Amino acid sequence: MFDTLRARLTLWYSVVLALLLLLFSLTSYFLFSRAANHRTDADLAELANSFLVTFQDELKDPDKTGGLQAAARQAMLEHHVRGDVVLLVDAAGKIAASSTDLIPSAAPANSIASRAVASSGFQSFVAEASQSERSYRSISGEKGGFRAYATRFSADGQSWSLVILRSLHAQQEMLEQIRVAFTWLIPLGVLLAGCGGYFLARRSLAPVAAMGQQAQLIGAANLHERLEVRNANDELGRLARTFNELLDRLDRSFERQRRFISDASHELRTPVSILRGEAEVALSQLSRAPEEYRESLTVLHEEAQRLAHIVEDLFTLTRADAGEYRLAQSDFYLDELAADCVRATRALAQAKSITLAAVTPEEMPLRGDEDLLRRMILNLLDNAIKYTPAGGDVSVTCGSVPDGYELSVTDSGPGIPVEMQSRVFERFFRADRARSRSGADGGAGLGLSIARWIAEAHLGRIDLVRSDATGSKFTVRIPASSVRSPSLGTSR
Ligand code: ADP
Repeated sequence: MFDTLRARLTLWYSVVLALLLLLFSLTSYFLFSRAANHRTDADLAELANSFLVTFQDELKDPDKTGGLQAAARQAMLEHHVRGDVVLLVDAAGKIAASSTDLIPSAAPANSIASRAVASSGFQSFVAEASQSERSYRSISGEKGGFRAYATRFSADGQSWSLVILRSLHAQQEMLEQIRVAFTWLIPLGVLLAGCGGYFLARRSLAPVAAMGQQAQLIGAANLHERLEVRNANDELGRLARTFNELLDRLDRSFERQRRFISDASHELRTPVSILRGEAEVALSQLSRAPEEYRESLTVLHEEAQRLAHIVEDLFTLTRADAGEYRLAQSDFYLDELAADCVRATRALAQAKSITLAAVTPEEMPLRGDEDLLRRMILNLLDNAIKYTPAGGDVSVTCGSVPDGYELSVTDSGPGIPVEMQSRVFERFFRADRARSRSGADGGAGLGLSIARWIAEAHLGRIDLVRSDATGSKFTVRIPASSVRSPSLGTSR
């Protein structure tokens, strides 16, 4: 039942409200009853004071000879003590005058008062009151009981106590009414507020339910669909926007994956069909000259090599995309690595009568993945030699820059058309598709994207800084964060 958020919200809200209402009612009930008690006590003391003034005056009046009883009666009449019971008690605790006797018709509850006066509680109060100047006590009895006040005074050379009893019936009835009202109003208020809260929660959470339904319908096939954003500025609008942004990212990532798979299969198709065609031709004739077989096998070998190269590149990129490629960090010298790469490609350059130069003027200690960086430099050198016509120049220069190292590979090739320069680092991009794919050295357009990933994995970057009719220049920058201090380096 409380599985839904709106039910839980309503429950919490109702419980908190009930507790607050309960606290409020108890506090106000307590304060009200205390104020009523104070008021009764103050009234009783005030009545007693004015009664005594009148009583003493009457007693001293030489014209009046009725004595104590008459003076008391006169004071009672004058002070309209109809609802209260006034008693004059002597020092021995004996009642000398009582309003219930002197004004018999005044109080209909006189018999209740008489029973209260006869109670042991009242007796002990009177005994106690004769000892102190003034005292209060609640006397239990029928219809809420009485509040009693007593004060001492002297008359006719004797010590007396004036005791006034006030029925608490009306006060108790009022408090009872308040209690009854609270007992009904609190549950009713909580119930109404709970219903309102449930309705509100349902209304406010309705968009969440709608979003959930919409999200359920979105899958790989319709990843372009988005959630409806009703109010972009409220919390739910922000949630929908965040979800839509997530879908955007997923959509782009899916699209990239789709393109990657389709480009990859496209690239793999050519060498595979060459392999199959060549093998079919070789197998179709029963006997062929050994040279013909050798020729076929050479083609098969070249294509298999190309295939292996593409598969390895694809594997590197998918691992990089999945974040699975862990850099094998080691300490080495970048200048030495560049010189190694130049040595490794010298035969390739010589085959095309290309002059290959390396300018590495200083020691460049570095911490990074040596194999990956070698692969990056070889890719750049390989491209430079591949795309530079015979007799051209290729050079590798490296040196320190303020925030790290810079390595450039420059060639004197034909350059890359301006409109294609921004795309050379894209996967499967080849400026000249027809030329690049033919031959054993025809790449799949993955070399530069792998080079860029390697530079970025070392927190650096790679740029095509110049490419025109005089040649191209690719520059890699490795920041200082990857650079180690020479003192920590391995010995050369
Ligand atoms: P590929 O394996 O085809 O060489 P790359 O990603 O290494 O793939 O290069 C992408 C494309 O950029 C190449 O096909 C080529 O058209 C162009 N390119 C790269 N380097 C050079 C260069 N030094 N001179 C001219 N064109 C280049």
